[in-house]
Amino acid sequence: MIHYLDNAATSRVLPEAAEAAVRVMCEDFGNPSSLHKMGIDAARILEDSRAAVAQALSAQPAEVYFTSGGTESINTALFGAARKNRHAGRHIVTTAIEHAATRNACRRLEGEGFAVTYVRPDADGHILAEEMENAMREDTILVSCMLVNNEVGTVLPVAEIGRALKRKNPSALFHVDAVQGLFRLPITPKKWNCDLLSVSGHKIGAPKGIGALYMKRDTRLAPYIVGGGQERGFRSGTEPMPLLAAFAAACRVRAARMDEDVAHVQRLKDYLAEQVGRRLPFAQWNGRGDVPHVVNLSLPGCKSEVMLRVLESRDVFVSAGSACSKGKESAVLRAMGLDKKRIDSALRVSFAPFNTLEDVDALIAGLEAGARMLRR
Ligand code: PLP
Repeated sequence: MIHYLDNAATSRVLPEAAEAAVRVMCEDFGNPSSLHKMGIDAARILEDSRAAVAQALSAQPAEVYFTSGGTESINTALFGAARKNRHAGRHIVTTAIEHAATRNACRRLEGEGFAVTYVRPDADGHILAEEMENAMREDTILVSCMLVNNEVGTVLPVAEIGRALKRKNPSALFHVDAVQGLFRLPITPKKWNCDLLSVSGHKIGAPKGIGALYMKRDTRLAPYIVGGGQERGFRSGTEPMPLLAAFAAACRVRAARMDEDVAHVQRLKDYLAEQVGRRLPFAQWNGRGDVPHVVNLSLPGCKSEVMLRVLESRDVFVSAGSACSKGKESAVLRAMGLDKKRIDSALRVSFAPFNTLEDVDALIAGLEAGARMLRR
């Protein structure tokens, strides 16, 4: 039996999402741009799907654009916003704990002449709204930050950040990377004064390769991808119908059981904390995760890569830092000021609603066995 505890990297597709994809691939397979009945049916599925995703984002359907995932949404938002507002200023504020999609988009913008301030976290992995506000300048045209950190599970104060930005600089745009927050926390861009917001399907039980960008009504960015004018001219290319139908199906399922899912995952996290406290008392928690589905801990003396192999041999799957970092030292843990030994032994455990207490038991047994071997 597999114990998959790496759901912040990606997760299992929900049966309802898989069924929706198969139906659209094998039965309702028309192109929404076609004028015949098959096309009209496909266009209806497209708009029903958009409405389901919009509801998950507390948005109007007209404010939602399908993309290939979190990375494309973030790139579209950041490059689009920077280019749109470059006449007004060349300063961007973000944080030092962003996903590589944001970090590397900002690096590229620096190469294009923009100045970027990377606000650092405290030792717990928290970003203070006050520090974000202090970083905002008269020539700030864009602020981008995540809602939930993917490595340590901290929640960023997006409502305060949005409020401060609009008070200081009303024409600047605010982008939120909500990829790890969807169906863990309510997503309310309007309450956060947020103009642009990115989400991804594969973190919530939809397949990989589908995401969405929320763009507040009247926020017009230049399209990033041009072609046949799909997605109201904003993102050309024949719509990925199976993927977006699956994304919508996953949104419907997750919305209906969000409270139960969050409570269940909280129980798993509490159980993990209790078991680690009793059986691995030398463990150190990295960051004070605010959400239950992402936790990060170091076992001094146990290199993460080696521990991953020990766990893998027992069919337990977690990650060392972020999956995107592929063995590179975690920029997030480094920004939090953790020492190298602690970073080198860091493990990220991330839960999905399908996980069970038995998965946690298997993890703890594997960690105990690994620690016995490696800490000798
Ligand atoms: N932002 C965060 C916080 C993430 O965790 C991820 C995925 O790991 C992304 C963005 C990128 O999303 P995608 O894999 O859909 O491109």
